[in-house]
Amino acid sequence: MERQLHIVVLLPHPDDEGIIAGTLARHIHNGTPVTYVCLTLGEMGRNMGNPPFANRVTLPMIRKQELEEACRRIGIQDVRMWGYHDKTIEFEDQEKLADRIERLISELEPSLIYTFYPGYSVHPDHDATGAAVVRAVERIPAHKRPAVHCIAIATGREKLLGQPDAVHDVSEHVEQKIHAIHAHQSQVQHLLGNGTLDDPAFRAKYSREPFWEYRFND
Ligand SMILES: [Zn+2]
Repeated sequence: MERQLHIVVLLPHPDDEGIIAGTLARHIHNGTPVTYVCLTLGEMGRNMGNPPFANRVTLPMIRKQELEEACRRIGIQDVRMWGYHDKTIEFEDQEKLADRIERLISELEPSLIYTFYPGYSVHPDHDATGAAVVRAVERIPAHKRPAVHCIAIATGREKLLGQPDAVHDVSEHVEQKIHAIHAHQSQVQHLLGNGTLDDPAFRAKYSREPFWEYRFND
């Protein structure tokens, strides 16, 4: 994994970063600064914890603290919460959202952006976030654009998108990754089930992080 000038991660939900936590930990270990923009506070998360310790009123505050803790565990120092409402990203004014992302890109000048692949990421917030990133990056002249590497989670993604452009082996950071996912106490059951790192199949699954590069038309 090459060292980058700066990496920006744009994902809609606290806990989405767990999917690529190994990659982010490795970049940080290599000395690349990472900024994570989480668009919502995940207020609509289905789980209130097990046993329940949150309710609809307290869940956003709890998820904010969980996200801060998860980022600490990954080593991310710049976390920004944009405060959109969970499950509403697709209804935001898409041009305004792209404007905001464009301003972020001019502020940080990242060489690489991680987001969801629009249309292949299952949840409407995931698709809408990826689409807004593409819309913002598209406006930048081709030679100045950061690379956009996408997470795709749709079933049959290889059939739809072809083989991933990169598959990161993050086995050296897999403990750290699972530890970071465990920071999302209200969601951990939903995220990891009963899996543990003692199970070789679980370890193998979480040690591999595939990415598809978004290809612009010009
Ligand atoms: Zn999500």
